[in-house]
Amino acid sequence: MIDTHAHIDTEAFAEDIEEVIERAKAAGVEHIIIPAIEPNGYDNLIGLVEKYEMIYFGIGVHPHSADKFDDEVEQRIREIAKHPKCVAIGEIGLDYYYNELSAPDVQKRVFRRQIEIAKELELPIIVHNRDSDDDLIAVLGEYQDGNLRAVLHCFSDSTELLKKALDLGFNVSFTGNITFKKSEHSEVIELVPLDRFMIETDSPYMAPVPNRGKRNEPSYVKEIAKKISEVKNMSYDKIIEQSTKNAKNFFKLLMVLMSIALVTQSAYAQDDYRYKDGSIDEEGEYLEKAPYPKFIGIGGFVGTNTIVEGQTFIEDSNIPEKNISYEGITSFGGTVTYGGLADYLIIQLGYAYSKNTKVQEESPGALPNIHQLIELSSLWIPNPHNKINVFGAIGPSFIMNSINGVDNSQIGLNTGVGFIFNIPIKGAGLLNLAAEWRLNFELKANEREVEVQPNPVVTTKIDSKNFYSIPRLNIIFYPDF
Ligand SMILES: [Zn+2]
Repeated sequence: MIDTHAHIDTEAFAEDIEEVIERAKAAGVEHIIIPAIEPNGYDNLIGLVEKYEMIYFGIGVHPHSADKFDDEVEQRIREIAKHPKCVAIGEIGLDYYYNELSAPDVQKRVFRRQIEIAKELELPIIVHNRDSDDDLIAVLGEYQDGNLRAVLHCFSDSTELLKKALDLGFNVSFTGNITFKKSEHSEVIELVPLDRFMIETDSPYMAPVPNRGKRNEPSYVKEIAKKISEVKNMSYDKIIEQSTKNAKNFFKLLMVLMSIALVTQSAYAQDDYRYKDGSIDEEGEYLEKAPYPKFIGIGGFVGTNTIVEGQTFIEDSNIPEKNISYEGITSFGGTVTYGGLADYLIIQLGYAYSKNTKVQEESPGALPNIHQLIELSSLWIPNPHNKINVFGAIGPSFIMNSINGVDNSQIGLNTGVGFIFNIPIKGAGLLNLAAEWRLNFELKANEREVEVQPNPVVTTKIDSKNFYSIPRLNIIFYPDF
């Protein structure tokens, strides 16, 4: 069941709100809706709403406090109404019994303004009425164009007013006064259709029998359902089921739940500071700030280079193209990385050095070949908020070769795939271990001479194009600044 109207944000509950909430839950209350009364109470109200999952709220200025409504308050109401748990504009209305608190004309102006806000924000209104039936229904009727949703709370008025309210498409909610012995509300209760009423306590006021005269609280809301079931001669369960359904529809609670889920989800997505699985590092701090590097990191790597030289014979077309490969050549180097552009992107500048001494096994007396690769890479990370990031790399390379002492340089392309393991080090920074497989292609051929017959020595010209395949292990450190 849902207590659709309880002022448990007031002084009366300051001492024992925790127990009140527990008793409500124990009594089977699913949700409590707290309508705001006046601006001084908004902060406390929001505090409760954010502390207790079961509480939703309405925002507005009660007719008793209509004097306090001004442009600034209106701005606050509009701001607060964006809260995902705000389900209505309320409590608003007219109270001519206590007309010394705010003059009727002020009340009417403030009531109208708040109805306009509600319509604009597409929120329903929670309406208070005391001794103001005619003006109240006239104002509401003026604004009903089919889009105004209103509940006349604590309904204890005439069947005439009920009929008018029902005709305008409004709902009513019943509270403790229907349980009082002297109650003359039976006719109203009998008359109201099953899909147009809700139940409420109006805590701390209006405690139902058998607690009449005491402080009211949400756990007593079941007494209201009991009384309605007696008058309507229906089962208590049916009344609970129906009033709960009506409240959920009226306040669009399912939509609110969904939007809360969405807001939580998007807040989570915006939170760059935590791994996707919700865990943070053991020290509990570092990853709150950086799930993976967003700043400058420096590193080094070591790997094995397989160099394949593609040779095309220029002068002697009878010699077929061939590939000569050298395997297991050590490659090492360093990197500078920057992760500040986007979560899924790391920019890396790398330098790799390989010295191929294997050529001397085949051509004694030859100088070792030196290959220096300068790679500018973009590392793309589809899962940046995981502990282990997968990445694909691509970018241009500048390749400097010294082949048997003759220098040539080349523009190339580097590409690769790998994993990054994030290891936070508290107070120092973030350590990345990356295992990857990087390829470098030379895009254009270099012309050079090779010996085709060692004895006697005959040389011929070839176009040479190298390809480098380097599985490598990187260590990158992103220091804390
Ligand atoms: Zn109220």
